[in-house]
Amino acid sequence: MTAGEGRPGNVPQAHYDVIVVGAGFAGMYLLHRLRGQGFTVRVFEQGSGVGGTWYWNRYPGARCDVESMQYSYSFSEELQQEWDWSERYAPQPEILAYADHVADRFDLRRDIQFDTRVEAALFDEHEQRWTVTTSDGATASAQFVVLATGCLSNARMPDIAGAADYKGAIYHTAHWPHRPVDFTGLRVGVIGTGSSAIQSIPLIAEQAERLTVFQRTANFSVPARNAPLTAEERQWFRDNYPEIRRKAREEMRNGIFTEPPQKGAFDDPDEVRRQNYEGRWTSGGLTFMAAYNNLALEKAANDTAADFIRGKIAEIVKDPVVAGKLQPTNHPVGSKRICVDTDYYATFNRPNVELVDLRADPIDRIVPDGLRAGVRHYPLDAIVFATGFDAMTGSVAKIAIRGRAGRTLNDKWAEGPRTYLGLMTEGFPNLFVVTGPGSPSVLSNMILSIEQHVDWITDCLVAMRDRGAACIEATRQAEDNWVAHVNEVAAGTLYPQANSWYMGANVPGKPRVFMPYIGGVGVYRQICNDVAAKGYEGFVMSGSLTAERRTAESERAVAN
Ligand code: FAD
Ligand code: NAP
Repeated sequence: MTAGEGRPGNVPQAHYDVIVVGAGFAGMYLLHRLRGQGFTVRVFEQGSGVGGTWYWNRYPGARCDVESMQYSYSFSEELQQEWDWSERYAPQPEILAYADHVADRFDLRRDIQFDTRVEAALFDEHEQRWTVTTSDGATASAQFVVLATGCLSNARMPDIAGAADYKGAIYHTAHWPHRPVDFTGLRVGVIGTGSSAIQSIPLIAEQAERLTVFQRTANFSVPARNAPLTAEERQWFRDNYPEIRRKAREEMRNGIFTEPPQKGAFDDPDEVRRQNYEGRWTSGGLTFMAAYNNLALEKAANDTAADFIRGKIAEIVKDPVVAGKLQPTNHPVGSKRICVDTDYYATFNRPNVELVDLRADPIDRIVPDGLRAGVRHYPLDAIVFATGFDAMTGSVAKIAIRGRAGRTLNDKWAEGPRTYLGLMTEGFPNLFVVTGPGSPSVLSNMILSIEQHVDWITDCLVAMRDRGAACIEATRQAEDNWVAHVNEVAAGTLYPQANSWYMGANVPGKPRVFMPYIGGVGVYRQICNDVAAKGYEGFVMSGSLTAERRTAESERAVAN
């Protein structure tokens, strides 16, 4: 922080090189990298601790679905050699403990201000700096603002009539209490059947007297086959990390190391294909979708995988009517985020679990003692909303961001988000987004994508400092070209066929645009590297730091 000039009321205003919004894995790594390059950084986090997703989503069964040995930072060799993941997919408390460990190990907390929301950010064209207003009423200024606000951080509570009069307990999976919740002896309703619901339903069913699951859209889920990690398994990763991480970054579309598929679904005879799916079902996990290289591209190929999963559901679920309701039919497998579960489908064989198909019997309203759907009344002591997020843009939209000429970002993105490389948007200089719309983001192992963005942004700020540039901004032309490219690549896949949160379809009124970049993390990384190598092609660097500021900044850089 540098000396403040003072504001009305004589409250000094803090000045930083960079303000980071959010202290999840993205904000934490940003702080570490930027600080290492001698920048002064302030992180504002609305929660009371680090970890983001893993701080908020404390529902029963919450765990990662990218294997922990890969869903972890790679920037520190010591960290990845020393941290012991207990299971193939670590549970939420362990991932949160990892985030806490990282914060302590790299001494991050001293530059993070918790319990503080960033409410607004205003760009001053004359000063070429941002002024950020926080929920405590303070303001701070910075040359750069980086939004590390998370793609799945703005929980969605659907507007259901009668909710205000409900007498029971209401939970949202993404705002789970920090104390244990005990459903023993209770009649519980879960609304939603996405990943959060699919993880929590089996555990809630074990506890509750009665569980009613309200399903609007059946989802495809594959077994996790979670298990404790053995010392040998951990060691294998540790010994091979350089190659595993390299392949994940460069050769895998989704940033998850696996054997990439070499052929299409119809290159195998029916029986061989069935055995391939069977093998992947038995080994478990997201790599089910890596069975063939055309599952996301060709409907007929996709149908073979979808039929296989529908067959499995029919095998597992004893009541054929319930099995039929659980079989997804209205979207290609993978076009909505595929779920990874432990005993999800088998849970519907329990006598205390009921499935309500909301397509046949829509929710009418919440009543003081439960919920009415179709003609039935369901008495409920607790309702769990597993209703997801206003994804990718939701948390950004909640901040009043004004760029050049006072234009708001919400105005600019009214028809859908527009970015260059998912990193910046024209008209909003010196404002970066981590894993923003237009980047691989939610289609990838997100820690890998976070590290790539943070490294790119850090290198960019260093390059600007070296040039003495005060301002960087994406050009309109580069942004238009990138948006066109993102749309074109998406249109060549089956993804836009689903009413998914990738498309904004889960939020009434949100523009229908396929938000992430589906070209793959390797291709994307190469594009970003090429852009930087060509002197930040598609960006304009302008202005110049005053000699005084430049000297101060270089001195700081040397001191660090
Ligand atoms: P977040 O972790 O979302 O952190 C953003 C932070 O910004 C939050 O703490 C939020 O409070 C804060 N913030 C937002 N707005 C403001 C504001 N205005 N002012 C101050 N603070 C603000 N991805 C995978 O790759 N693999 C997985 O297995 C996986 N599992 C997931 C499980 C769940 C339940 C969920 C919800 C997501 C999962 N994801 C997974 C995606 C996950 O979000 C990312 O992997 C990653 O944790 C995102 O980190 P982040 O720092 O970008 O964002
Ligand atoms: P989600 O996938 O968006 O699922 C929300 C569910 O709620 C859907 O079934 C949706 O139905 C339903 N729903 C929403 N509004 C409703 C309404 N008004 N009435 C009835 N049903 C309604 O959200 P999520 O499960 O929280 O997962 C979001 C993403 O977070 C995942 O896709 C994944 O990327 C990540 N995640 C990962 C894990 C993991 O396994 N590691 C766990 C949780 C989350 P429709 O489908 O009809 O909209």
